[in-house]
Amino acid sequence: MQIVLLGPPGAGKGTQAVKICERYTIPHISTGDMLRQQVASGSPLGNKVKSILDSGELVTDDIIMQVVEARLSQPDCKSGFLLDGIPRTVAQAQSLATLLPKMGAARLKVLQINVADEVLLERIQGRQGQSSRSDDTAEVAAKRLKVYWEQTAPVANYYEQHGNLVKLDGVGTVDEVFERITAALAA
Ligand code: AMP
Repeated sequence: MQIVLLGPPGAGKGTQAVKICERYTIPHISTGDMLRQQVASGSPLGNKVKSILDSGELVTDDIIMQVVEARLSQPDCKSGFLLDGIPRTVAQAQSLATLLPKMGAARLKVLQINVADEVLLERIQGRQGQSSRSDDTAEVAAKRLKVYWEQTAPVANYYEQHGNLVKLDGVGTVDEVFERITAALAA
């Protein structure tokens, strides 16, 4: 199983990613989590990207591809993985298309979780206070959504053209959405 999970911030990618990885016993590769770990550890990379994360903008494609390439070359990714939070730009999708075959990854399954913007903003705002994420504020949420529509939505078109995109309705309970996902992965 080599899965890419696409969808706007607040669509439930993180929650579904954990369930998918449990079900199929594959590592959950979240570029956002990896970057937040770097920030928390105070590493040079973390210090470099902290203000970018806090603003809701994207880290450069070069940096993110280095981070993900290092992670995908770990042995636990040999039998599959789930990418959550990458690709965020068409350039990243193109880089992955070159990188993955070199690593023996044959064919990605790309799932897009769709949720209307109004629902997303409500969800992200509801997360404030419970979340330890410094980018879960109303202002940054709106920025992240804008960045998503401008830079990440075209990634879905890229995969649609390459024939491996499955679109899913992300409204419903966690279990309902998970059932849609497992059905799509079994198809
Ligand atoms: P996430 O947890 O996926 O919402 O990511 C949190 C933040 O990390 C994003 O708002 C970006 O600043 C950065 N980030 C995560 N993944 C990527 C990526 N693939 N490309 C660029 N920036 C990223």
